[in-house]
Formats: sequence, C-alpha cells, structure tokens
Amino acid sequence: MKEKIVKSNIYPVVTVRDGIVFPSAENVLVFGREKSILAVQEAMKGDKTVVLLMQKDNEIENPNPEEIYDIGVLASLDKVVPGEKKQINALVKGLQKVKIVKMTKTTPFYEAEIEVLKDTDNENEEILAIVKYISGQIKKAINLGKTIDFVFLMNILNIQSSLHFSHQVAMILDLRSDERQGLLAELDLKKRLEKEVEYVNKEIKVLEIEQNISSKTQKKFEKNMRDTFLREKMRTIEEELGDKENQEVNDYKKKIDQAHMPDNVKEKAIKELKKFAQMSPYNPEASYIRSYLDWLTDIPWNKASQDNIDLLLAEKILDEDHFGLKKVKERILEFLSVMKLEKMSEKFDKKGKKKSAKSKKSEEKTAKKDAQPSILCFVGPPGVGKTSLGRSIARALGREFVKISLGGIRDEAEIRGHRRTYVGSLPGRMIQGIKQAGVNNPVFMLDEIDKIGSDYRGDPSAALLEALDPEQNYAFSDHYLELPFDLSKVFFITTANILDTIPEALRDRLEIIHFAGYTEDEKFSIAKNYLIPKQSRTHFIPDKKAEISDSALELVVRRYTREAGVRELERQVATIFRKIARLIVEDKIGDKKKTINIDDIENFLGPAKYSAQMIEEQDTVGITTGLAWTQAGGDILFIEISTMPGKGNLTLTGNLGDVMKESCQAALTYIRARYKEFGIDKDFFSSTDIHVHVPEGAVPKDGPSAGVAIVTSMISALTNVPVKKDVAMTGEITLRGRVTEIGGLKEKVIAAHRARIKTVIIPEENKKDMVDIPDNVKKDVQFIFAKRIEDVLVNALLKSGISVKLKDSQPKKKISDKVKKTVK
Ligand code: ADP
Repeated sequence: MKEKIVKSNIYPVVTVRDGIVFPSAENVLVFGREKSILAVQEAMKGDKTVVLLMQKDNEIENPNPEEIYDIGVLASLDKVVPGEKKQINALVKGLQKVKIVKMTKTTPFYEAEIEVLKDTDNENEEILAIVKYISGQIKKAINLGKTIDFVFLMNILNIQSSLHFSHQVAMILDLRSDERQGLLAELDLKKRLEKEVEYVNKEIKVLEIEQNISSKTQKKFEKNMRDTFLREKMRTIEEELGDKENQEVNDYKKKIDQAHMPDNVKEKAIKELKKFAQMSPYNPEASYIRSYLDWLTDIPWNKASQDNIDLLLAEKILDEDHFGLKKVKERILEFLSVMKLEKMSEKFDKKGKKKSAKSKKSEEKTAKKDAQPSILCFVGPPGVGKTSLGRSIARALGREFVKISLGGIRDEAEIRGHRRTYVGSLPGRMIQGIKQAGVNNPVFMLDEIDKIGSDYRGDPSAALLEALDPEQNYAFSDHYLELPFDLSKVFFITTANILDTIPEALRDRLEIIHFAGYTEDEKFSIAKNYLIPKQSRTHFIPDKKAEISDSALELVVRRYTREAGVRELERQVATIFRKIARLIVEDKIGDKKKTINIDDIENFLGPAKYSAQMIEEQDTVGITTGLAWTQAGGDILFIEISTMPGKGNLTLTGNLGDVMKESCQAALTYIRARYKEFGIDKDFFSSTDIHVHVPEGAVPKDGPSAGVAIVTSMISALTNVPVKKDVAMTGEITLRGRVTEIGGLKEKVIAAHRARIKTVIIPEENKKDMVDIPDNVKKDVQFIFAKRIEDVLVNALLKSGISVKLKDSQPKKKISDKVKKTVK
C-alpha cells in the first residue's frame, strides 16, 4: 500500500473505541457519534482524510481531549456510504502513525494538528524468524478456533514486509484497547513483534485452555446427554414394566370388582393387591400373592345356580337314570320335598308377605338347628350307583355337581387347606370343590367318608364336621383363604361302603340311605336298559347295528361278574362294544345287524370267570355253606371241618380273623358241653383232633356271623351226618346255643340267591329285615328263622341222619315245630 503524502498537518479527528486501523491495513468502520459524523463530513469536503484516535476508556460516549490517546493513525476514507440512523459507513485505510501536537478545535468536532511518526523498519533474519514464528502461531491459533476475517488472514499469509505484517497482526490480535494502543505507539519493529509474540502466545494459551474447557464441557455435556438418554431409556423401560404391572394390577382390580365378593373379602383382596402393587415383580412373595388373588377372585362367593325343585321332574330324572332303587329314590324325593318347603318358608311368612332379611336369618338359624340331620349319606358296596345317583340329583335340581374323594385323607389340611406361609400351599378340598363347581350351591359329593383317618396332623373329620354342620358351615374357615366361606347353600351328599368306620360325631349328622347291591335279575335289567344303551352311545355304535341277546347278557351277568354292584358288568359290556366297534370298522358285519349270542361271548370276553356251579355238588359231611358280608357286598363261603385221631387239638386254617377263631372255640365248647344230646362219645374229644378250614383267600373271613355254620359243620363232622348242599346260613351263636342277630342280611341273601341256594337259615331276630329282600329273591329262596342252634341243625343236616342221632336226647316233635317258621 502506498503511503499517502501528508500535505497539511491539521485534520478532523475521529475517536474510535477499539477499531483503530493500523497503517497499511484497512477496515470498514461505522461512524455513529455526532462528533465523528461531523468530522467525517468535514473530511469529505477536503481530502477525505481523518485522524483516528483511540479513546482511553471505551465506555465513554463523548471523551475529552484528555481522555483520548495522543498517538493515532492518519487514515483515508474510501467508499463512504450513509448507514442507518445518520450513521456513516466507510472503508478506512490506515496511512501513517501520527502524534497530536495540539487540538486546534474541540467543537463541533475535534480537529488537531499532527506530527507524523516513523516506524523503524530494519528487517533482518531475527525479525524474519519472529515473523515466521508469529505466522505459525497464528495458524495454530486458527486451528484452536480463533476466527479471523478472511482479508486479514490473506494479508498476514502473503507477507510483504515485516512492518506491514506487524501492523496486520496488531489488528487481529485479541487485545485490550490499551494493549493495542501500546503496539501502535511502539515504533520499534522488533519490540513490537516481540510484544506480539507475547500476545499471540497468550492468546494460544487462552485458546488451548478454552478448548480444554470446551472439550471437558463437551465431555461433560456428552456425559450428561448419555445419562439423560439412559435415564430416559430407563424410564421408558420402567414405564413399560410398570405398565405391565399396572396392567396386571388393573386386571386384578377389575377381577375383584367383578367377583361379587362379600365386603370383608373385597377388603382383604384390595389390601393384598396394594401389597402386590408395591412389590418388585422379582420378589418371590409376589407370586404367592398372585395365586392368592387368583383364588380370591375365582371362588364363586356369591354366584349360585337357580334352584329348581320340581318333584315330578326330579322323579322322572331319577327314574330315567336309574333302574330300581325304589326306596332310595323315595327317600330322596322326600328329602327334596322338605327342601322345597324350607325354601318356600324362607321366602314368605304366613300372610304371604316377604320376610325381612333379619327375621329370615334368625328363623333360618333355629330351623337349621332343628332340621338335623340334613346330609345324605349313601352307604353300600361299590358300583351300586351312589355316585351316579348324586349326579342325577344335581340334574334334577338344576345344580352343578362336584365330587371329591376323602379316601385315605389323614391330614386336616387336606380339608381345610394349608396356611399361606407354606410353600405351595393351597386351599383345602372343600374350597377346591367349590371353585371347580363355579357356584356356591352345588351338589357336593364327599366320596368314601368311611375311609378318612386321623393322625398327628390333625383330625380331618373335625374339619369335615365343621363343613357339614349347618350351624357352623355358613362361615367355614379355610386356612389358606383366611376368610370364612359360606357353605350353607351346598347340598352335601356323602358316600361310604360301611358305616362302622365313620366317626360317631359325623355319623350323627348323616341321614343314612342304604344301597344293598343288586340281584342277578336287577343287574340284567340295569344292563339291558341302562348300561347297554349308554355303552353303545359311548362307543359310537350306530343305532340298530348291534344288540346283545338276553341269553348272552344273562351269561355275562352270571359267569363274568360276581359283585354287588354293576361296575364290572359295565366294564364287560364296554369290552363287548369295543369289539363290536372294531368289527364295524373292519367291515366284518356288513349291512346286517349283529346280534351277540352266547357263542360270541367267550370270543369277546374270554373264558367265563366264575363257574356255574357255586355250591357243593353233593351233600357232604363237614362242609357247610356260610354267608359273608364284605364292603363289596355279600358272598358265600364254605366252612370245612375234618376230624382225625389225635389228642383233642383244634387246628384253624384259611386265614381266619380273631373273632372267627373265637367262634370256632365257642362252637367246640358248646358241642362238648352237649355231647350227649348229639350222640357223641364222651372220650371222643380227647382222642380226636379237629381241623377247621375256610377256603377262598379272597373273601375276608372274620366276624361272629359264621357261628351257626361252624357248629353245623362240626356236628356234621363229629356225627358223620352230611350237610345239605343247597342250604346256606348266617347267625351268631351264644354258648347256650341261642342264635342271635347279624348285619348285612340283604347283601348276604342276594349272594346266596346268586349262588343258587334254595334255603337260607337266618336268625329270627333278623326277621324285621325281610322287608328289604327283593321279591324275586323271596320267591326263589326259602327262609328259615332260627332261634336256637337246633333249628339250624334240623334244617341243615340231612334229616335222616340227625333225627337218628338226636332222637335219644331231644324229642323230634319239638324241633320240627320251630322248623315250620318259613316265609314262604
Ligand atoms: P358307586 O358310586 O356306588 O360306586 P357308580 O355310581 O359309580 O357306583 O355306578 C357305577 C355304574 O353303574 C354307573 O355307570 C352307574 O350309572 C351304573 N349304575 C349303578 N346302579 C344303577 C342303576 N340302578 N341303574 C342304572 N345304572 C346304574
């Protein structure tokens, strides 16, 4: 840049805050202060040159001459254009450094007389090196983020002279105004450059620190960002998890609302739910609470099916489902009638008005107390229809049916549940049954009530009693639920094979209904009318495609089953239909109807399981037919007695129970005491051994009712008089020869009938039970009622034989009087 030759030494003065333009540099300046504008205008009139002076304090709007530095730059104004609000923009070029000699004017603008200052310009290697160094440092500063106007940068990089370089650098350095003024006033190039080195290095340091700070801030910022991001993410995850939980909690809330719980239950459920909601899902207790809430919400607290006690319909349904069982059905219909009346009286008082809830409750309670016992108990052998009758009752009432088995239960917790503190605890079977039923008034069958036991784990029958007792069961407490459940609407039916083992307190509550077992004729009818149609349906046998002939069915009943009920019979029928199904599928029947005849039966079911001949083939000495009663119904058994020379020993074999062994002893004692009456030799007992044997291991042999049969066999063996093969007997005997009452008469008699026994001798004390004996049995069997053993002997032993032996001691007439008491 060419230096301007100064023609005059008086110039208008413009004060600048910081924007001094060094000689050989140019910059755009905006003049806005009044004094400056006037000075510029004045200059524009002349040679467009002003003196730029920096003010010492750039805060001051109108500085005095003392507040202005006295060394400045003479500058030319190019491209002067008016700006906004009277401002003047001008491209200002620095010409020369000047010093104010004196202010020649202070208003309306400053004008001063100047003296030109001359910089030293001794370029040498040292100075060049410094220049190079500074240039490098400036690049470094740029890399560190220093921003420089492009024109300045180009000027610096295209170094023309060290002097110009130093002036350009002085313009771009980030300096305080006094520092910049210092550079301006320094006329020695080297010193100025050295100062600039110092400044540029300082600036670099600042830039480095800044960058350091900014990278730290960046890192910090990034860390913050990361944290925020993670936190955000976590929140989303939590929200999602929470959502799920909330969803679950909400679901439970809904379920609780819909479960129609009593208030106390709802309260408890909500309390548990609150606990659940606050719990981490990983807490193992959460799953306990979850299953507890599931139970609480699933139990039909207030859900009941509509009762429908229509006696005619009930009778029809009972008949539809079951053959015979006349007495049982009658008892059930009576029971239902009472239930119906109870329901009606619950609803209406005598005037026909609805009762208030309060009076209803108190009356209900007293009525319940009076109306005991109210729980049915079906007692009888397996397969006689106890369960299926229970189902029919439910059907007749339009109620749900559930059945739980109590067989083998020894633990109270099975009935009442385990406390929730147990791992894997559950409610007891009562509540489980109710849940299964889905209503609070099902027909609830408690199977095998005679098979519950008790041990150190508590007495299940006590818990059962609470469940069944109408006085207590409106608030049955289950350990798991921890809340009372109202069982009072449940229709309980219990079943048992025998009565003896049912705990006394429980038995008191039960209304016993006996199922004795079926005769062969009954079984035949049940099979024909119920089991065959049912099994045919279950095996999808097309209608009229197969039938079982009566003779074949009779064969199945007689030779393939020997049971009190019809379970085995049903199984055999099912086997037949399975085989028929296969024949149909294999197309071996064709379009015809298949009739199963006697000949087919062995094919289908294998050889007959039981012989036709159940009784002895001929009248035999020492063998008597006795009658036994077991849980499976009645059966016949044979008492065999042999005598042999010996020392009067009594041997008992055939796995006899204690009571039966005692019966044998008692029989022997009785006979020895009356040896004369039976015509037995006095020394006979000391020289003879007696062996009592009861074959057939399958029949349990105990109880006193074989007493008469043992005596009969013994006398037969000792007197060598045969026993009639078609006579069977049952009866306990005293040491004085009296025949006393036995139990299970109906089952025993039916078993005798099944075995084709013609005459059954029973204690006279059992005459009252004859009403239970089916008519067709009475028709086929002759009954003899015995008061004393003589009545038995006369009818059981071959008359010819016994009459000879007894003639001496007892007049025949007397005995035959008693014999005539037969039912026929
Ligand atoms: P339980 O409960 O007495 O052991 P179930 O009720 O299980 O006997 O009866 C066994 C099968 O015999 C069932 O299929 C039942 O329907 C049938 N059954 C029993 N008695 C009769 C009957 N009197 N009439 C029709 N079917 C009967």
